[in-house]
Amino acid sequence: MSKKRWQVFPGKNRFFCGGRIIMAKQINVFFVTLILLLGVCVLFFVFDCEYLSQKVHWLVPVIAGVLLAFTLLFLFRTSFSDPGILPRATGDEALFNDRGADNNVDLTQSSANFRNPPRTKDVQVNGETVKLKYCFTCKIFRPPRASHCSMCDNCIERFDHHCPWVGNCVGKRNYRYFYLMIVTITILCIYVLAFSIAHIVMLSREKENTLITAMSETPASVIEALIAFFAVWSVLGLAGFHSYLAGTNQTTNEEIKGSWAQRHGEVVRNPYTTNNCCGNFTKILCGPSYTSLLRLREDKNKEKRDMEEVKKKIEKLMFEQQNNSNSQGHWTNSQPHNGIPVDHTDLQTQLPRTPTPS
Ligand SMILES: [Zn+2]
Ligand SMILES: [Zn+2]
Repeated sequence: MSKKRWQVFPGKNRFFCGGRIIMAKQINVFFVTLILLLGVCVLFFVFDCEYLSQKVHWLVPVIAGVLLAFTLLFLFRTSFSDPGILPRATGDEALFNDRGADNNVDLTQSSANFRNPPRTKDVQVNGETVKLKYCFTCKIFRPPRASHCSMCDNCIERFDHHCPWVGNCVGKRNYRYFYLMIVTITILCIYVLAFSIAHIVMLSREKENTLITAMSETPASVIEALIAFFAVWSVLGLAGFHSYLAGTNQTTNEEIKGSWAQRHGEVVRNPYTTNNCCGNFTKILCGPSYTSLLRLREDKNKEKRDMEEVKKKIEKLMFEQQNNSNSQGHWTNSQPHNGIPVDHTDLQTQLPRTPTPS
């Protein structure tokens, strides 16, 4: 049986569920994220929620549950989907790109005539010159904003960064879910921190205990509060940073490289920004969703077979058109093909009729 595309995929990725889930090769840190998140929430639901729902409001555990559900939904959507991987050039495409992307180059010439392609190409994006770099691994000119992730060994469209915490790259196809995950996890962290501290304080006031005695009565709340306290600074910082990036339509990669900063005394304007914070947010959060270019679950030879089929159909059509021209315009004069009469009824409506010579 012929293999599927995901089974022969050249990048350093892991696949699960028959190619439906794609992740980076290294996913250990992703499990740390999952254990921390679920661990703290389970402790909260088991040791705090009963007390809080009685003493504060029954909605406390419900809101925590909704926040956790959204966080997990956005986390899995970021971690398990194609971040926007650009397929590598194959066969003739790679040869064509490698030999300079020049229409006049004879692809059959010997390797002695081989010359390296130019490493960059300039293109205009909204009036700004943007350099396209050639990727020697993927054998393609990367589209604007794409970059090659060394961890996954793929070129990623609108590459943001490789995130070990989610076990995947963050790019064009999963950035919005990554951003929403950061926002919901920040709210969840603050929520758990606030209510676990509230539990300890209420317990100490209730029995007129010291805070230490209350803490010894509910040690799970102390563990939750400590984990949430240390996590909240990093997630809050990340949420702020990515809100700034989303508001200015920049990627982490561009921000770190200073792509739109002043270079050699020359200010390079970001050609992707709408110059309006709300407009940029809308574009990132509500813009179109992009289809994966990988077609991972397709048969690896499907494209080749499709091309051969199209070629055969064109040849057949040309042959039949030629036959019909030779038959002096008599479209019903069907020649049996391998003993089977050929029906031209469909072709009569599709092809131009050849006039009968006078
Ligand atoms: Zn690449
Ligand atoms: Zn990556």
